[in-house]
Amino acid sequence: MKFIADCHLGKIAKYLRIFGFDTLYFQTIDDNDIIKIAKKENRIVLTSDVELYQRLKNTNVLYIYHGKFEKQLLEIFNYYKLFDKCVPFTLCIECNGELKNVLKNEVIDHIPPKTKLYHDDFLKCKECGKVYWQGDHFKKMQKFVNSFISKT
Ligand SMILES: [Zn+2]
Repeated sequence: MKFIADCHLGKIAKYLRIFGFDTLYFQTIDDNDIIKIAKKENRIVLTSDVELYQRLKNTNVLYIYHGKFEKQLLEIFNYYKLFDKCVPFTLCIECNGELKNVLKNEVIDHIPPKTKLYHDDFLKCKECGKVYWQGDHFKKMQKFVNSFISKT
């Protein structure tokens, strides 16, 4: 299951990636291009734009109502039954690229000194090269993921 989110749904896109769902997002993109990409790559369009929704009616599109982000995410998860399908922390939050495990010495030059001391497990994005480790930010996301998943 693959998604493309409209430019209003950056946070949603980011979190879908955290849960391991392939989600394209562009800060600026023409509606026509969203439609084109969705058709070509068989992606579900997530939009909070009535006009775009009307154009895509009866295809793979979900209208996202304005409101709290967690509620929006929950709606998507329930609608597409995503709770059984998530594989958290397998995609890059920044670019949607695939993450792979890397050895510490492969990333040693790209991490802060303190991180070198306290962490041994690293993930790296195959596309943009961003390195991830279980620091405070990661733990916060993990906590969110766990509490969100427990909502089933
Ligand atoms: Zn990346």
